[in-house]
Amino acid sequence: MKSSVLYALLGLTQAGPTNDHGQYHVHNPKDGVRDYKTGGPLNIHIVPHSHDDVGWLKTVDGYFFGGERDIQWTNVHVEIDGVIDALLNDPKRTFSEVEMKFFKMWWDLQTDQKKDKVRELVKSGQLELINGGWSMHDEACPIYDDMINNMMIGHDFIVKEFGVKPRIGWQIDPFGHSNTNTRIFAEMGFDALFFARIDYQDRNKRNNDKELEWVWMPSEMGPETNLLTHVLYNHYSSPNGMPFDVLDPGMTNIVDDPESSEFNVDKFSEDLINQLIERSEHYLTDEILTLFGDDFRYMNALQNYNSMDKLIKYVNENYADQFNLFYSTPSKYVDALATYDVEWPTKYDDMFPYSDGPDAYWTGYFSSRANDKEYVRKASSNFHASSQLFSSKIMDRFAS
Ligand SMILES: [Zn+2]
Repeated sequence: MKSSVLYALLGLTQAGPTNDHGQYHVHNPKDGVRDYKTGGPLNIHIVPHSHDDVGWLKTVDGYFFGGERDIQWTNVHVEIDGVIDALLNDPKRTFSEVEMKFFKMWWDLQTDQKKDKVRELVKSGQLELINGGWSMHDEACPIYDDMINNMMIGHDFIVKEFGVKPRIGWQIDPFGHSNTNTRIFAEMGFDALFFARIDYQDRNKRNNDKELEWVWMPSEMGPETNLLTHVLYNHYSSPNGMPFDVLDPGMTNIVDDPESSEFNVDKFSEDLINQLIERSEHYLTDEILTLFGDDFRYMNALQNYNSMDKLIKYVNENYADQFNLFYSTPSKYVDALATYDVEWPTKYDDMFPYSDGPDAYWTGYFSSRANDKEYVRKASSNFHASSQLFSSKIMDRFAS
């Protein structure tokens, strides 16, 4: 099914750029993998992000308004406030926003004037709305209808308020990944899928074989259901030893004033570039994706950006022959990949079950909380039936 047809069924219109997945040359991995590095400076895509669970240890409102601090210290309202201010302060900065439930809660509290400014940030690409579902759904337990509905409600909000359609699948915390979800994402018109959690043995092998990126071909329906897939290198965290947020244990600020006794940008830069060199050895191109963020981070957005600004400036000034650091987004990274003539590895099957390490399989949740799952299934089937009745009434009206 063409993505435009699926979108019509979902009641959405397609806006913004789309991608022909067929542009990626695919081959049998057994043919071997070429190295596409040019030997020139590595382009380091710094991607600031926050992973905000829509309900986990606290209620949704607890997470958003900062209540229940004894359970977890979060305040998504303050987080988004700060990120938007930081972006407005400097057009070079970017941020990737994911969970539309929280973003809509924030959006509804803003003035028309502020909303216009945020629309400009989206238009300029400084603020990228990625994934765009109400939440980041699990891929093992829900039925496909629920996954589509979860994405539809978020994308509907984005299309109506911003006139664009997310290009990036961003499933960084679900515990394993399915062919079904990949196919749905491809048919929604996503250009790529990013995630963090894959089986530890699979990760080790892919690390060694430079196969952390591939074209996933979840069905035999052709390029329309294929999706470029990227496994993040360091979970979805910042590089090691870069604690720039108030929530980070051992929080540190980067200081680049050489007169100051606190001067530390040289040491942090050295640490960062060593990690980047190591990371680059596991990917095929000169483009290196580097996230800065974690669960509910950017609680003090300016503090994060001030440190990242200084780090980027120092590395670019002192290691220009090896590195080009800049704020980026997953879309900008995917666009950069498209400039390489890469024959990506391919993959055809599910990524279940997921295991963190030896004897650490995340399979218990497939069958736990049976009552909750029954409620979800019943609600889902009622919703599906009522949607069908609604649709048939609408069609009757047009027919008469
Ligand atoms: Zn999570």
